[in-house]
Amino acid sequence: MINKQQIIDRFISYVTIDTESDPKSNTTPSTEKQWDLANKLVDELKAIGLTEVTIDENAYIMATLPSNVEHHVPTIGFISHFDTSPDFTGANVNPKVIPNYDGNDILLNKEAGIVLSPDYFDDLKLYIGQTLITTDGTTLLGADDKAGICEIVSAMEYLIQHPEIKHGEIKVGFTPDEEIGRGAHKFDVEKFGADWAYTMDGSQVGELEYENFNAAGAVVKIKGKIVHPGYAKGKMINSMYIATEFINSLPRLETPEHTEGYQGFFHLHNIKGDVEETVLEYIIRDHDKDHFEARKDVMEKLANELNSQYENEAVHIEITDQYYNMKEKVEPVKHIVDIAEDAMKQLSIEPIIKPIRGGTDGSQLSYMGLPCPNIFAGGHNFHGRYEYVPVESIIKATEVICKIAELTAAKHQ
Ligand SMILES: [Zn+2]
Repeated sequence: MINKQQIIDRFISYVTIDTESDPKSNTTPSTEKQWDLANKLVDELKAIGLTEVTIDENAYIMATLPSNVEHHVPTIGFISHFDTSPDFTGANVNPKVIPNYDGNDILLNKEAGIVLSPDYFDDLKLYIGQTLITTDGTTLLGADDKAGICEIVSAMEYLIQHPEIKHGEIKVGFTPDEEIGRGAHKFDVEKFGADWAYTMDGSQVGELEYENFNAAGAVVKIKGKIVHPGYAKGKMINSMYIATEFINSLPRLETPEHTEGYQGFFHLHNIKGDVEETVLEYIIRDHDKDHFEARKDVMEKLANELNSQYENEAVHIEITDQYYNMKEKVEPVKHIVDIAEDAMKQLSIEPIIKPIRGGTDGSQLSYMGLPCPNIFAGGHNFHGRYEYVPVESIIKATEVICKIAELTAAKHQ
């Protein structure tokens, strides 16, 4: 059995080290303080007995658990990120451990009157009777993704202490800067040397994800012409009105606030404008590759149409692809999802397989040659003061890692 107190202690030792990343920085890691946890993790991986423990100049950590069987087994990897989101402060995290949660409001902070309530966060009711770890209401917790790191380290330790569980070679990878979209950027897939991997970076117990959005960003620049308003007849072109035409020509219901599941969208997230120039910033998202391309076409055509109505090529659009749906890379090796699903079922965990309405490091890694579905890490309400994680969920994810290792070896006898 996995020792609960040890899991709590390990998790708290990670979240009390501030590792907030910074999108404005150009270095890797983006913040110097990420080294604090990275160096500690290197020591810990060596101490539990992993081999080939390395950390490179960008703070990417890799380690190996050697195979304990004679026959050939594919090499699998488990990946997490140690930075936390810049959306909310991660300094001076003061975690609270709440044993045997009773299902009522949790007073996070008396002075500030901050309450974590199941009336608002109804997922809490799933965890009555369990041990929750919460914040004190003034910081995020960092279960995203230090729960994932805790699970991988604990699973490796468990496998080392239980050689009767047969497994092939297993690789561990910890990355900086996932929260600012750069976790996979400097990941050396070849050095990692796994046939496939899993990111431990999902939320609720049972989550298993191998589909995410195709994503692009669009910048629409609209040029106008400023003339004295008193003498403007037939001369002034007001870029803001053209911008309004552009905005209103896109389907109003295909926006984030009107879509869910597999429905894609156009999301206008920024407008800056005056008479002379208006700039619209959009993101475009769709799981389906053809629909994704069609959405980009719709925007290009709209720009062309407006250009034929107004002089001087008034509308200029630039669309840049950001990331793609990993399904295309994972589906040809679907057995890697099936193994994770089997592992959960054998542990009496109901798999929840649903498309991600976003991207993961795994989607980038999949396109870099390392197919990489995502598995639950157990936390809820990421990136803010209401973040919490049930210890039982961390234990379940740890067991899933061990079981995947075992099943992969068993299926390749
Ligand atoms: Zn994460």
